[in-house]
Amino acid sequence: MVGHLHQAGMQVTPDADQADVVIVNTCSFIDSSKEESISHILEAHAQRGLRKKRKDQKLIVAGCMSQRFSKELPADLPEVDAFIGLDQITQVAPIIDGLLGRPVSAQVTATTSTPAPHGHTTSEGPVSFVTPRSTYIPDYNTPRFRLTPKHTAYIKIAEGCNHPCTFCIIPQIRGRHRSRTVESVVAEARALVKDGVKEINLISQDTTFFGMDTWEERPNPRTPVDSSKGTALTTLLRELNAIEGDFWIRLLYTHPAHWSDELIKTIAECPKVARYIDIPLQHISDRMLKIMQRETSGDYIRDLLKRIRAGIPGIAIRTTFIVGFPGETEADVEELAEFISATEFERLGVFRYSQEQGTRAAKMDDQIDTREKDRRYRRLMSLQKAIAAKVSARSIGTNLKVLVEELGVARAEADAPDIDGRVYVSDALPIGAFAEVKITGSKDYDLLALAKGDKPKAFKVAKVAQ
Ligand code: SF4
Repeated sequence: MVGHLHQAGMQVTPDADQADVVIVNTCSFIDSSKEESISHILEAHAQRGLRKKRKDQKLIVAGCMSQRFSKELPADLPEVDAFIGLDQITQVAPIIDGLLGRPVSAQVTATTSTPAPHGHTTSEGPVSFVTPRSTYIPDYNTPRFRLTPKHTAYIKIAEGCNHPCTFCIIPQIRGRHRSRTVESVVAEARALVKDGVKEINLISQDTTFFGMDTWEERPNPRTPVDSSKGTALTTLLRELNAIEGDFWIRLLYTHPAHWSDELIKTIAECPKVARYIDIPLQHISDRMLKIMQRETSGDYIRDLLKRIRAGIPGIAIRTTFIVGFPGETEADVEELAEFISATEFERLGVFRYSQEQGTRAAKMDDQIDTREKDRRYRRLMSLQKAIAAKVSARSIGTNLKVLVEELGVARAEADAPDIDGRVYVSDALPIGAFAEVKITGSKDYDLLALAKGDKPKAFKVAKVAQ
């Protein structure tokens, strides 16, 4: 969206006082994200009322919440001037021109398939441009403006999801799975690496399903990654790995049901693919996996993790679990806790189940009360904290390649941006570059390291386990 604004010659400013238009890009995954989105919208509206010079400022609401509640929001939020959905990203500039009563930019009209905005409006209320079923997917030609630091970037390789998870609203918001082409993703990655990016994070709702939507033989939610049947994630990883340069490829949001020996072997054989995988498992109890419709079982997951660890030496596994799903018993939580203790995941997060309107799980009996969800959450998080400390301590004395994120702070291959641990290094190491360091200490999720020639006194973190 920001890329399109720039392409249309518009300036983007973080200072709302200077803006002709404020865009609030919303999330709608769970209740708390909706609440946060609404509070930002109301705050943006209140602020423009306070700014005497900016009374004519327009307020646009974009993103998943607009898409999900396209029918209700224009009536519920009359403060807003326009709603745009997921498929209106390419039209954002002409929509703004239209709202401001300007002629629609010829440049934008020529580079988008839709010539001009044509939203419907009811009397004086907000205009809605949201179309019901999302089909949009960016490609290499989509103008891009990165909001991440220069050395790290996300590439969205596909959009939408075909999975039937009973707790999740995403397929209803984002639509059916559709992949970009390998050529498009590779061209984008090549340009990013040329631009100095050292870490490419591959994302989508289900990265393991990449390419499978184009197969002649229709895959199901359990079909394994298999490049003999058509384009697959393994095809993409090998092509990305062949790009010249020193960089990491990080694989996020893989669905366990699609993992295959071919995928394990490919990661093992591609040195640029980080020894890190993100594989949300959600639970281990067969009963819970079944009612969550995760297309996996406890035995399948245990066996898969064994194969991943055996096939990719040094791999760090990140996962997430949901506690407090309807009908979850104390025995299910006990089984999950035992599994977490036995597996010793390098990285792990726990979510409290959120009852989401429009999902099948929301209508299930035996919803669990908030205090009980909190109790289960705290139990598993404290269990993981102890495991994380053990995992971190194991690195002491080893040499690690790290990517320096900011002054004195770096990340290792096992740390995804914004979510995993940190490696505290000397302030002397250049930001945005790789460095070789030796791990000298650890504390919970974080590590302390020395680069060659460093003196220990240069570090800011004093309390570490030696
Ligand atoms: S695979 Fe992920 S995005 Fe798709 S339905 Fe399940 S939880 Fe939602």
